[in-house]
Amino acid sequence: MHTIVGTKKIGLLPADGIGKEVMPCVVKVLEALKAPFEYVNLDAGFECFERTGTALPDATVEAAKKCDGLLFGAVSSPSHKVEGYSSPIVAIRKKLDLYANVRPVVSSPVPGSLPGIDALIIRENTECLYVKDETIEDTPTGKRAVAKRVITEAASKRIAKLAYQMALKRASLHNRQGKVTIVHKSNVLSVTDGLFRESCLAVAEASELHSIKTEEQLVDSMVYRLFRDPQNFDVIVAPNMYGDIVSDGAAAVVGGLGLVPSANVGDEFIMCEPVHGSAPDIVGQQKANPIAMIRCGAMLLEHMGMGKESVAIEEAIQEAMHAGTLTPDLGGTATTTEVADFIAKRAVEIF
Ligand code: ATP
Ligand code: MG
Repeated sequence: MHTIVGTKKIGLLPADGIGKEVMPCVVKVLEALKAPFEYVNLDAGFECFERTGTALPDATVEAAKKCDGLLFGAVSSPSHKVEGYSSPIVAIRKKLDLYANVRPVVSSPVPGSLPGIDALIIRENTECLYVKDETIEDTPTGKRAVAKRVITEAASKRIAKLAYQMALKRASLHNRQGKVTIVHKSNVLSVTDGLFRESCLAVAEASELHSIKTEEQLVDSMVYRLFRDPQNFDVIVAPNMYGDIVSDGAAAVVGGLGLVPSANVGDEFIMCEPVHGSAPDIVGQQKANPIAMIRCGAMLLEHMGMGKESVAIEEAIQEAMHAGTLTPDLGGTATTTEVADFIAKRAVEIF
């Protein structure tokens, strides 16, 4: 492929299920906008595991490291334990030190979305109960099972710093005060969640962050408030597992999993992936909503300094919603491809 100066190399990991159906949609939109990207196809996922014996081949990791950014589709998680299989997405986050999962949760003009929501969930990605090699989970007798999780001051402060920086940035862009909500359960888990909470509060003490309001929510109350009063949140920061649960809940109040993108970010690198999974129940039926994946492309563009292209994509998505060009999850009858074609065409015209 011809490489122009400034071309960025983007690794594509469609992986499993509807990941394979929505990945071509985002590429279509990016190509329509002539984004200066060179694409590299990379193998990963459960199907890759069944084919090759590994869910994340070394060659994929090596090639991914040479890219400027990655787009990930979705990975199937088998409901039973499969010997030798572990999630490639968790491994990739760890190998590339993508320590934060950033999920914008914004109201949409679709049935099922409440109005006035504009929140950013920042989930810690590298520790807590989901990170297999640090979580000790065991059941020696089969009758009693134990899980021990790791929470560190360093990882908690790192994620809190990102949350406060994002709150500052959003406050200056949108001319609002800015608020960070720290999610934990330190009244019960006083040692681990207590450390997370104290680390976040220590970061909040930094003088340049005093303009940002800080509030705390116990995770159960957080879920309640999210459903009752979702407009009240700005930046939300949470340890890995609470962040996962809170973000699926948040997706429910803005129109569903088919709409919400996320970015896994490290100091140097970004990998964007939709919040949804591989959706085996709708695979191969042209029912997958491609908007979450297309929004991942917009996040990638914004991260790489192409804000105008990113805004054009979001405006085209809003038009598709107003026009009722929607997949069945949003009550429409359009196919995956029809939605993507509409957005690609309008994004170019708007741009
Ligand atoms: P996985 O183990 O891969 O997460 P899952 O069975 O949990 O698979 P999800 O992908 O998490 O499935 O989806 C949960 C529900 O939301 C499913 O009913 C699925 O069809 C629906 N869904 C998820 N993503 C989309 C999408 N992009 N478009 C339409 N429906 C979706
Ligand atoms: Mg799922």
